[in-house]
Amino acid sequence: MLLEESSIANILNKQRQFFATGKTKNVDFRIEQLKKLKRAVSDYQEKIAAAVKADLNRPKFEAYFELTFLTEINDAIKKLKSWVKPRRVSTPIEQFPAGAKIYPEPLGVVLIIGAWNYPFQLVIYPLLGAIASGNCGIIKPSEIAVNTSEVVADLIANTFDSNYIAAVTGGVEVSQQLLAEKFDYILFTGGTRVGKIVMEAAAKNLTPVTLELGGKSPCIVDDDIQLEYTAKRITWGKFINAGQTCVAPDYLLVNKSVKSDLLEKIKQSIEEFYGENPAESPDYCRIINEKQFNRLSDLLKDGKIFIGGETKSEERYISPTVIEGVDWDSEIMQEEIFGPILPVLEYENLDEAIALVNSRPKPLSLYFFSRNKRKQEQVLRETSSGNVCINDTVMQFGVPSLPFGGVGNSGIGSYHGKASFDTFSHYKSVLNKGLWFDLNIRYAPYKNKVGLIRRIIFR
Ligand code: NAD
Repeated sequence: MLLEESSIANILNKQRQFFATGKTKNVDFRIEQLKKLKRAVSDYQEKIAAAVKADLNRPKFEAYFELTFLTEINDAIKKLKSWVKPRRVSTPIEQFPAGAKIYPEPLGVVLIIGAWNYPFQLVIYPLLGAIASGNCGIIKPSEIAVNTSEVVADLIANTFDSNYIAAVTGGVEVSQQLLAEKFDYILFTGGTRVGKIVMEAAAKNLTPVTLELGGKSPCIVDDDIQLEYTAKRITWGKFINAGQTCVAPDYLLVNKSVKSDLLEKIKQSIEEFYGENPAESPDYCRIINEKQFNRLSDLLKDGKIFIGGETKSEERYISPTVIEGVDWDSEIMQEEIFGPILPVLEYENLDEAIALVNSRPKPLSLYFFSRNKRKQEQVLRETSSGNVCINDTVMQFGVPSLPFGGVGNSGIGSYHGKASFDTFSHYKSVLNKGLWFDLNIRYAPYKNKVGLIRRIIFR
């Protein structure tokens, strides 16, 4: 649906006017808004669970993954007064007399665009950072998770004045309309292709961006592992939300000597989690839409299916699937899978595995299973990714003190915890000079002063 052009411009203008009143700069106001957001999310929890069930057949337990950020609201409420304090920094002697401080200040009106896979969290989580930092903002949930998008819009409309925080729903055209406007910051979550479109649009207005993108996150498995936990943790991280998780392990790169044992254990874990027929499990999600279902079904043609491979188009079901016999040129290894299909490649020594990972674009997440500390250090030192989790999958997303974001093709910038506050703040550097003394050296005439400046610079 195309919105009346004036309606987006109208919301934006009103938010600019509201921002100009300075109200959002008041810390007590921000804390009040965070409390309101927390209450609203708590009041809407059943509606959110029902919406993600309708969109993705998400079991109620996994629906609560959408709300894990709530603990961060408490943290922001508790720490905001210290976060907003200007931070004193040192000044060099030649600046004497002077004091220097860094002031965090809000940016203005920000835009948050979300993806469909965690359709509530991916807009509300950044919003908490935008509010904490004192901004106004517009959020645009993904149109593809249609039910959740409506719940988000309803929650926002019932909680905030649209002159302060508004939700705009709609498809790609609405995103494009929003991107044609000038915002003071854009946080986008989605695929790399659209990330480039967002960055291009932002560049026209010199708007800074955080791009939370995806990619093929490798899961490297060494020969020195705790087999049972490794299998369980990989199975869990890959198949929650039917693999439609940005930080899901995309493929396994496993040491040849443990491959068959690991695959047997993964098979057992799948059966343990979802039963013999996952189609009947109340705990297994569905693919978001037909387009994604067809794309994923095509990928099942690659290699040899070790487990799974069943599909039911009428309910967009793809069983948890593990595929062997693929190589780096197979179709499944070209793009992010973003579904419940786990291709397995093998390696003989760790150097080889690292070289293979490094020959690809930098991933969002990298997983390494090994008890060997020296190898853990080697992987950390020799690879680059947005984040790393050793001996587990996905869990790094839930540590608020770890900034979350990608690098290279998997994104720009980060958020979560204090990093969300930093993302939506400008850190203003302020030098305040004393007036009771004035060092004359900088003023002309410079005669006889070159030696002095040289000594200062090369001291
Ligand atoms: P997407 O890029 O297709 O869409 C994301 C948003 O962009 C939607 O709101 C959509 O309306 C908008 N959009 C789509 N096409 C557009 C265009 N041409 N111009 C302007 N706006 C447009 O992504 P998706 O399919 O919703 O999500 C899947 C991707 O998101 C995966 O790659 C996944 O890894 C990534 N992701 C990343 C994170 C993260 O935190 N890094 C989280 C979730 C998903």
